[in-house]
Amino acid sequence: MGILEENRRLEELDKKYIWHPFTQMKDWLDEKPIIISEGRDCFIKDIYGKWYLDGVSSLWVTIHGHRKKEIDDAIKEQLSNIAHSTLLGLSNVPAIKLAEKLIHMVSSLLVPPHSSLTKVFYSDNGSTAVEVALKMAFQYWRHKGVNGRNAFVSLNNAYHGDTIGAVSVGGIDIFHMAFGPLLFKTYKAPSPYCYRCELGREYPECTFACLNEMEDIFKMHGDEIAALIIEPLIQAAGGMITSPPGYLKGVRELCTKYNIIMIADEVATGFGRTGKMFACEHESVVPDTMCLSKGITGGYMPLAVTISADEIYNLFLGEFKDLKTFFHGHSYTGNPLACAAALACLNLFEKEQILKNLKGKIQILESWLKEVLNLQHVGDVRNVGLMAGVELVKDKKTKEPYDWEEKTGWRVVYYARDNGVFIRPLGNVIVIMPPLSISKQNLNQLLKVIRDSIVAVTEG
Ligand SMILES: *Cc1c(COP(=O)(O)O)cnc(C)c1O
Repeated sequence: MGILEENRRLEELDKKYIWHPFTQMKDWLDEKPIIISEGRDCFIKDIYGKWYLDGVSSLWVTIHGHRKKEIDDAIKEQLSNIAHSTLLGLSNVPAIKLAEKLIHMVSSLLVPPHSSLTKVFYSDNGSTAVEVALKMAFQYWRHKGVNGRNAFVSLNNAYHGDTIGAVSVGGIDIFHMAFGPLLFKTYKAPSPYCYRCELGREYPECTFACLNEMEDIFKMHGDEIAALIIEPLIQAAGGMITSPPGYLKGVRELCTKYNIIMIADEVATGFGRTGKMFACEHESVVPDTMCLSKGITGGYMPLAVTISADEIYNLFLGEFKDLKTFFHGHSYTGNPLACAAALACLNLFEKEQILKNLKGKIQILESWLKEVLNLQHVGDVRNVGLMAGVELVKDKKTKEPYDWEEKTGWRVVYYARDNGVFIRPLGNVIVIMPPLSISKQNLNQLLKVIRDSIVAVTEG
């Protein structure tokens, strides 16, 4: 079979057999799918041989680029030992070494007073890391002999994953509304979305009115609340919404004051994306539980961890018959191949001085953002480190958004794809999240194509 014929066949088979996530399949069936066959560095190649700059790190996971020798080698080496064994009733070598590495990292970067993070619970993806955190918090209060703490606090515009518990604490209406009747009880605090403040206030004169609202929830419902969950510094899937400086610290103080477990969902922000290893470091905040996934294996294998404080872990200790065991686990929990990949990924941070080298790239991104803010239809630009969003608006003065049915974000993204850049929008927000290893030259190229695409679509 010729190569063209084979490619057509793959396109047909995709449409025949695959149901894609977050995708209106009717639209997909009318489009020519991009099918990726290879990757290298921060580029991905389709079956026709066209290369794209991977502007969203293959959905926020790739850190050191594709086909990174050290991670490739670590997986191959582990393969020559064992691919999988279980953590239920057994342990394995890479899972132990990775847990040690993570706890060393976390405890040197996130220094108490509040609590210290000492135990690693493995799962497979960001959503399960969140489920684990929620269940642990819920059961913690039971073990403590406190009843009635059955609800959670989360934020409007929050995204914590797609399993039902994670959806319950989610706050993005178009994703989450459909499942309303299935969800457990949550109290929603305002999103720290200064560009479109829910409370109609202006930062900094507002003096954190949104935190006052959160405090009101704690005051009124404190004895019903098991935990608060938050994406530190940036609500990523909600539209790259960055919180103003001091907000996260304020949340920590409220959780401490009202004795509420603080869960930091660092699934998107963890592992250098924000310019520091963890977003919580920026405001010297130590959560009681931390969820990590996406970048943990550098984008190689599905893996997640929920790191919990000693105080939580200790309450699950008891006699066998007391049934204080944490009854949760997955088939692939602590998968050795994934843990080996993660170890190699984390070692590269030191070896290649990733965080230090990020500074110049963040500067390039930030001066570019400042410049595109002058464009006629760019309402707001936001970033923390190398995570950025450009919010497009129909009318800059009134901040009137484009109707979402107009698919303005998608039109910009398609234009960029035609010009060799792969990105994905979140509604009217253009997301920029390249691998941390991207060269300055490739970063400049990425940003140039995105700017041209915004201009072509919104001013053309
Ligand atoms: C992506 C994401 C999740 C869910 O992770 P999955 O691996 O897609 O299940 C959870 N929380 C945050 C903050 C995320 O960005």
